[in-house]
Amino acid sequence: MKILVINAGSSSLKYQLIDMDNKNVLAKGLCERIGIDGSNLQHTCVVKGLDKIKIEKPMKDHGDAIQMVIDALVDADHGAIASMSEIGAVGHRVVHGAEAFTDSTIVTEAVLKELEKCTPLAPLHNPPNITGILACQKVMPDTPMVAVFDTAFHQTMPAKAYMYALPYKCYEEDRIRKYGFHGTSHKYVSQEAIKALGKPAEELKIVTCHLGNGSSISAVDGGKCVDTSMGFTPLDGVPMGTRTGSMDPAVMTFLMNKGMTAKEIDNLVNKESGVAGISGVSSDFRDLSAAAESGNKRAELALAMFGYQVKKYIGSYAAAMGGIDAVVFTAGVGENDAAMRKEIVSGLEFMGIKIDDAKNSTRGTVDVSAADATVKTLVIPTDEEMMIAIDTKRLVEG
Ligand code: AMP
Repeated sequence: MKILVINAGSSSLKYQLIDMDNKNVLAKGLCERIGIDGSNLQHTCVVKGLDKIKIEKPMKDHGDAIQMVIDALVDADHGAIASMSEIGAVGHRVVHGAEAFTDSTIVTEAVLKELEKCTPLAPLHNPPNITGILACQKVMPDTPMVAVFDTAFHQTMPAKAYMYALPYKCYEEDRIRKYGFHGTSHKYVSQEAIKALGKPAEELKIVTCHLGNGSSISAVDGGKCVDTSMGFTPLDGVPMGTRTGSMDPAVMTFLMNKGMTAKEIDNLVNKESGVAGISGVSSDFRDLSAAAESGNKRAELALAMFGYQVKKYIGSYAAAMGGIDAVVFTAGVGENDAAMRKEIVSGLEFMGIKIDDAKNSTRGTVDVSAADATVKTLVIPTDEEMMIAIDTKRLVEG
């Protein structure tokens, strides 16, 4: 079965066409500036080994974008399939499924109504995700659509992990609780880790570290998420590129009392903080490493703060699960930044976590654990599109 994976943003739409018979990516691309001057489609036909092409054409909405994607996929020169009837199903990334969605789901009228109800919890992300689904339904009315949520994998957390100690009515009336994000990535890498460790999922306690521009850590016990570092929104947890991560919530009211508006504070903590805010250099970990190496103390501090917080999550999640069998690193920083991996795990030897420096600095090595480590350290590239395609196939095939 060939599955089209769609990740629709407010003015962009990313796609991949995957042949699930062999898990090969046939084509992939991106529509940019949807509804804005300068709309363009960047498309790569992977299966024919062709270079990326860029087509500039006005796209007034996501419907136009989906039509351009289909046209590119069936194009005689740059296409990957002969006709769109070859697409067995479409898997859509949806950011927030709240408590309504504990797994991916086939899109029905009832599902669409429920998705609308989740929108207040992700006002910037869910509307374009829903628009993407509706646009696909219009162009491909007979093709099944599946929604795959960033939050669903975390729905197995127990109440003691997801509740905030606010008055209970905040949960009942406004659904304020920890939801967690990056679930598709945590699910994918934990499943891959379970395969690599070669034991039944039920016997394994894993901490997955998705470290990129946005970062989150999850505790996965028996294949199920039992805790995660992001919260009601993706602001919580470790410091990120431009996000604070956790801090005393009273900082917010302190700043409000000084005269800052909610909007200004929202901007401050989401866009001006994190490693960029501390260093004053960049949100990009490569820039930070270069700056720290050339003696920039604030870049050094930003990296140290990040590593320290990730280390604390690993320790606290081992305590929460009553043990740990593996730590998994993934995403831009987790997959590529050997020095940061080393910094995070150093000092955790007492828990049995120890990496081999040579393996850690060799790209593509999955198991970077030292020979005498009792806890495995794994580097597993994330593949959210593949996870979406796997779930889509599972649901469509019933
Ligand atoms: P992501 O959000 O997963 O795309 O990750 C983006 C982050 O990964 C950025 O901060 C990049 O600096 C970081 N990153 C990507 N490649 C490397 C690398 N080779 N070394 C260090 N950091 C990297």
